[in-house]
Amino acid sequence: MRLFKSRKIYYLYNPNTLNYERVYPSAKDRFFVVLRHLSIGIVIGIGVFILFMYAFDSPMEALLRKENKLLETQYEILSRRLDDALQILDDIQQRDENLYRAIFQTESIPESVRKSGFGGSNRYEHLMTLSHAELVIATTKKIDMLRKQLYIQSNSFEELIGLGKNMEERNKCIPAIQPVSNKDLRQTASGYGMRLDPIYRTLRFHSGMDFSAPVGTDIYATGNGKVIFASWKQSNGNCIVIDHGYGFQTLYGHLSHFKAKVGQVVTRGEVIGYVGNTGKSTGPHLHYEVLVKGRPDNPSKYYYMDLTPEEYDQMLQIAENHGQVMD
Ligand SMILES: [Zn+2]
Repeated sequence: MRLFKSRKIYYLYNPNTLNYERVYPSAKDRFFVVLRHLSIGIVIGIGVFILFMYAFDSPMEALLRKENKLLETQYEILSRRLDDALQILDDIQQRDENLYRAIFQTESIPESVRKSGFGGSNRYEHLMTLSHAELVIATTKKIDMLRKQLYIQSNSFEELIGLGKNMEERNKCIPAIQPVSNKDLRQTASGYGMRLDPIYRTLRFHSGMDFSAPVGTDIYATGNGKVIFASWKQSNGNCIVIDHGYGFQTLYGHLSHFKAKVGQVVTRGEVIGYVGNTGKSTGPHLHYEVLVKGRPDNPSKYYYMDLTPEEYDQMLQIAENHGQVMD
């Protein structure tokens, strides 16, 4: 008996009929064949599925991934822009503190109040579960900081606007220009604060600001007021003091000669005398002081009618970097 197998069709040799006769598989055989094919199919199917799942994103996943990346980039850009905005606000705050609030003689708003944080450590807890939590929280914090500081700043301006009303007369009197013509700022010699003494070479407090200028240069009254002193002073040489009212006085030292007299009422910009080299002085210059309630204040706070914000910054730098006074 021989069994031939061809294309899964089975034949069996029948010696009686001398023929090959086809043999049909039993139902059991058929069942196992189907089962085997099915199992192989399922295994291959699962394999291909897993492969695709790891190797390729579904269109939706790819879209979400792309969008996620875009959002992350956008957050980074926003974060950087917020840094810029905070920097600009910082400049405004400094100007508010050193110029505007000084002019109006209002109490300063301390840095600790302007930049105080928020209470409660779990303010951003709900963001912790995000995949880019650190970036999102940092950016949100910056927005909160900006909002709070802007609120304080806007209150400060509100207060100053209130003070500004009915201040026209006061504004005419308060020193607000430079005492010599100094458009290109080349006349700025030395600022207010601790400086090197020109004669003793030791650090000493300089109570005013020095402007170097040739002998005979016009000196202006820096605000409306009345001349209360025009005479010789031990260290300041020929010296003029103007009382501007509202607690303000200005002092002009080392003059070559006077133009204004004691008791004279002067207006801002009026020539009161001329630059000289009298008294304790190392060269022709004007020593200029602003006194508030009898105490010297930094004169650089009182040039706001004369200088643009850029020029003001430039002047401060020149005045700061000149270590040596002319006295
Ligand atoms: Zn000086």
